[in-house]
Amino acid sequence: MTTPEQRVAIVTGAARGIGAATALRLAADGRAVAVVDLDESAGKETAEKITAAGGRALAVGCDVSDADAVASAVARVAAELGPPQILVNNAGVLRDNLLFKMSEADWDTVMNVHLRGAFLMTRACQKHMVDAGFGRIVNLSSSSALGNRGQANYAAAKAGLQGFTKTLAIELGKFGITANAVAPGFIATDMTAATAARVGMDFDDFKKAAADSIPVRRVGVPADVAGAIAYFTGDAAGFVSGQVLYVAGGPLD
Ligand code: NAP
Repeated sequence: MTTPEQRVAIVTGAARGIGAATALRLAADGRAVAVVDLDESAGKETAEKITAAGGRALAVGCDVSDADAVASAVARVAAELGPPQILVNNAGVLRDNLLFKMSEADWDTVMNVHLRGAFLMTRACQKHMVDAGFGRIVNLSSSSALGNRGQANYAAAKAGLQGFTKTLAIELGKFGITANAVAPGFIATDMTAATAARVGMDFDDFKKAAADSIPVRRVGVPADVAGAIAYFTGDAAGFVSGQVLYVAGGPLD
């Protein structure tokens, strides 16, 4: 019988950044973790770190915006690790541009990965959670959900994920499933490094400038977000659902 600690978790976009830190953190909490990412070989590095530390992990290649790929990935996880009871919708991309320069492809790509991806993964996983009478869904929103210059697409997707989260909480609560959103502020990852490069700034200078406006006077690291996600995935958080937690070094909302 699966003990609560051994529950199977799926983390999308887990080859690097916040997703990788979350996969490692959930594994440290005793979860068996499916490391889902576009590129299976990139996910293997995270999975190998987990198995090297004595945990159970499986790297799965999957584009979360592709319905067939998602159905196959979730079926593979259920067959090889066990039915998923924890889902972290973390995969994400940026296609920043001011509105008048934003292409339809920039808009569609961001909507497809963040919103369609979270929808497809959640729809595929929920039946396993309903069968188990237990589930934990965590969606990655962002402080950009409140509006951010150059991110009309990303802000809309991240705000959309908050509405999606609250609706999941309402629909799935009676099956023992909670849904919450974690909304990070500035976290040092390849994503923010790419933003620094796009605006022509050295990444260290970019981080320092960001830290000056953050109450705790530092930018976040992936483990800061992983800790918040781990809380929502725990058995003890069963009465906390439909919430949005800003993990941003100070108040936003
Ligand atoms: P990251 O370092 O860029 O990592 C994102 C991961 O998602 C990459 O491994 C990427 O794979 C994967 N991915 C992209 N598209 C995918 C798809 N269609 N299917 C499966 N995997 C896909 O990003 P991060 O900074 O860790 O961000 C993680 C999440 O937190 C995102 O949802 C992001 O929007 C959110 N967030 C980040 C920050 C921040 O400051 N970093 C702040 C707020 C919210 P490839 O490498 O192959 O592209």
